[in-house]
Amino acid sequence: MIPHVETLIVGAGLSGLHLAMQLHSSGHSFQLVESRQRAGGRILTDEQSEVDLGPAWFWPAHTNMSKLVQHLSLQVFAQFTQGDGIFQTASGLQRIPQSLTEPSYRVVGGMGKLVDRICQTIPVKSLQIGAALTHVEHQDDQVKATFYSEKQGNFCLLCNKLVLAIPPRIVAKHIKFSPALSTNIVEQWRSVPTWMAGHAKAVLYFDKAHWRTSGFSGFAFSQTGPLAEIHDACTENCAALFGFFGLSADQRRQLSKDELDNLISKQIVSLFGHRPTQIRIHDWAKEEFTSTALDHSSASLHPQYGSHSTSVWDGRVLLCSSECATHHGGYLEGALVSSNQAYRLLIQ
Ligand SMILES: Cc1cc2nc3c(=O)[nH]c(=O)nc-3n(C[C@H](O)[C@H](O)[C@H](O)COP(=O)(O)OP(=O)(O)OC[C@H]3O[C@@H](n4cnc5c(N)ncnc54)[C@H](O)[C@@H]3O)c2cc1C
Repeated sequence: MIPHVETLIVGAGLSGLHLAMQLHSSGHSFQLVESRQRAGGRILTDEQSEVDLGPAWFWPAHTNMSKLVQHLSLQVFAQFTQGDGIFQTASGLQRIPQSLTEPSYRVVGGMGKLVDRICQTIPVKSLQIGAALTHVEHQDDQVKATFYSEKQGNFCLLCNKLVLAIPPRIVAKHIKFSPALSTNIVEQWRSVPTWMAGHAKAVLYFDKAHWRTSGFSGFAFSQTGPLAEIHDACTENCAALFGFFGLSADQRRQLSKDELDNLISKQIVSLFGHRPTQIRIHDWAKEEFTSTALDHSSASLHPQYGSHSTSVWDGRVLLCSSECATHHGGYLEGALVSSNQAYRLLIQ
């Protein structure tokens, strides 16, 4: 017999986890299933150094995030911005006042702590990792979801409500619907860029934060690359900078790790005068549960989110991810806005 759950949430990124936390605390039953071998989705922190490889910041306007970190008793600190920044062009370097950047906050221990704490609020057995949803079928008054996991092969769950806490473009790419959804809906979902899905972060480790002692904040904006935007990423455990690449996913793929490391080291020496002792690169464009080929050349301007359809089969299937949020879409805050929307629809 196929197991039945009231609400099935698929995707244990921030939106799916937050929805699970809310359902559990209000006494509603659910099951949460995640394709990766870990919870967190785009949230990922290097465990040893505590530097974030995905999102690191939230901003004062992100009130749901502020409330959540407080609720989970997490400590936060302001992004380091003391000292000057650097503007790098083909004709040289220019010192710029760091006050040009908006104030932002980081979580002590990294954003992964947010994931750990949320996971502690829900029953262990209600989260299954390592199982990817492949097929969704509308059957009378319920939905049958088929998953594939390496351990179990194909298995199914039945539910009254299915919440896809997955970016719309990933839903359109990986999940088959029976009966098929209209081309219009699938095209809408495919056209929604998954925020930062084509990007990569390089974390640069140092023996000490040399830039701080030389009067620099660690912030640099570069027109020459390979890193386009660099920030201080020091934690209690390490001295570090991180940078977003100016190279596209396709350009990065053509270079080996050694070639990328050499280009980065050269750039960092020219900016701050010291070579990193170690470089870690996390390329989100290579992650099948975050990125598709459409994201590889996506523009870096923040898209307008929240205008596509987020409900099919008379509300039996809901979409819920940061890209579905009516405001702050793409950000961590958007993931919370979206899970709040889904929660209200589920309990009404
Ligand atoms: C490099 C980078 C830097 C960023 N920086 C910031 C920042 O500083 N501040 C900020 O606010 N935001 C930032 N963001 C955006 C932020 O990470 C996202 O808004 C947020 O994490 C989205 O959460 P989500 O739950 O909506 O989606 P996701 O985190 O993408 O979660 C979706 C989940 O669904 C799972 N999944 C996908 N397909 C399936 C399937 N078929 N079956 C089962 N599970 C599936 C995925 O594995 C994933 O766990 C950044 C993102 C990146 C990549």
